[in-house]
Amino acid sequence: MNDISTVLAGGEIKKPGFVQLVFVDINGVPKGMEIPIERYDEAVEDGISFDGSSIPGFQGIEDSDLMFKVDPETYTEVPWEGIARVYGHVYQNGKPYRADPRGVLRDALEELEKEGFKAYIGPEPEFYLFKKNGTWELQLPDGGGYFDLITLDRAREVRREIALYMQYLGLKPEVLHHEVGNAQHEINFRYDEALRTADNIVSFKYTVKAVAEMRGLYATFMPKPLYGFPGNGMHLHISLWKDGKNAFIGEDGLSETALHFMAGILKHAKALTALTNPTVNSYKRLVPGYEAPVYISWGYRNRSSLIRVPAFRGNGARIEYRCPDPGANPYLAFAAVLLAGLDGIKRRLEPGDYVETNVYEMKEEERERLGIDTLPGSLSEALDALRKDKVVRKSLGGAYGNFMKYKEAEWDAYTEYLESKGLPEDTKKVTEWELERYFHL
Ligand code: GLN
Ligand code: MG
Ligand code: MG
Ligand code: MG
Repeated sequence: MNDISTVLAGGEIKKPGFVQLVFVDINGVPKGMEIPIERYDEAVEDGISFDGSSIPGFQGIEDSDLMFKVDPETYTEVPWEGIARVYGHVYQNGKPYRADPRGVLRDALEELEKEGFKAYIGPEPEFYLFKKNGTWELQLPDGGGYFDLITLDRAREVRREIALYMQYLGLKPEVLHHEVGNAQHEINFRYDEALRTADNIVSFKYTVKAVAEMRGLYATFMPKPLYGFPGNGMHLHISLWKDGKNAFIGEDGLSETALHFMAGILKHAKALTALTNPTVNSYKRLVPGYEAPVYISWGYRNRSSLIRVPAFRGNGARIEYRCPDPGANPYLAFAAVLLAGLDGIKRRLEPGDYVETNVYEMKEEERERLGIDTLPGSLSEALDALRKDKVVRKSLGGAYGNFMKYKEAEWDAYTEYLESKGLPEDTKKVTEWELERYFHL
């Protein structure tokens, strides 16, 4: 281990002794093994085999011999831990393993490439920094609000430290700020090619949690940790590029390609929430009043819409998809969203009229007149939508069955809990069951 002040001051640091080999489970939680650095070349050459039987969402014990293959481009050093870290793909019997989320995204990106597209994504992950006293009565160590700089923002040093550490993992922090919720923060980092951004999201959460822990705090990315407070979103800024140029730039605003892409997402929005908002807790965030989307619409300035088109100049043409939350497995969510958009392009779907009035405040009849539909109200509704949506199901490839099985069990466990407590199935209150299950995800 290196003393972090030495690291931050650019002093002489010890070389890594171990390499962490990282993949993610069905929830997007990093899993892996560590090997002595001396074995790294061998690992790159031959892969490292492991037993995958107890990885959430991977298969049962019948045939659990899996192989980790290094993706050497992702190698970074984590000087404060004195280790190196690398992502990889999971294989089984010499072929890509069907439920490896990173492999699912790689396959989806190949589909896009067949049409000549490369996808770029920039995320805006939000998180809370709590104090805990051994119970689930979470304490808010700062009383700040949106964009507060000093007086109420005691966590600002932690935030800066996270941004400094992130850079060692190859992330480029762009903007850090206090969010609307007390003790809620946001750190945006630079957009990148989709697979790299998904890796970066995993590295980011890892860094936030590590730094919070060093500071005696608990970071959580769960979508709605506290009832009555804003939830944690992870807006995604998406653009497709063709022949080295942003294909979303039109003559006067967005291109046809961008509009069709957006229409594809709107068309499949209900099924997509199962991937972009895959927890029981996600649906407690998607309620009116907290800048989280509830209705399926798009607009320009309108922050109540599901998709917003930010003002842009030059290469900045993009759409902002506002429903994803940081509890999502970024690989599966990206694969699903990108292929839903591609379906829109292939079928030349139209997104319909944009809406510039606040959709939350519209009367129901008005929404009906405009044909504005509602996002699923629970994980169970989202899973139903996914079952019915061939395009989104197909985007998960061989992982679809694993995902469904895992999520159905999650919903069942939740409803059993509600029953045992005599709580209604549609409660929007955050339960202890959710805190237990999702706080540390
Ligand atoms: N926290 C909000 C959400 O749940 C977003 C707030 C914002 O970034 N303007 O999506
Ligand atoms: Mg933001
Ligand atoms: Mg925000
Ligand atoms: Mg945003």
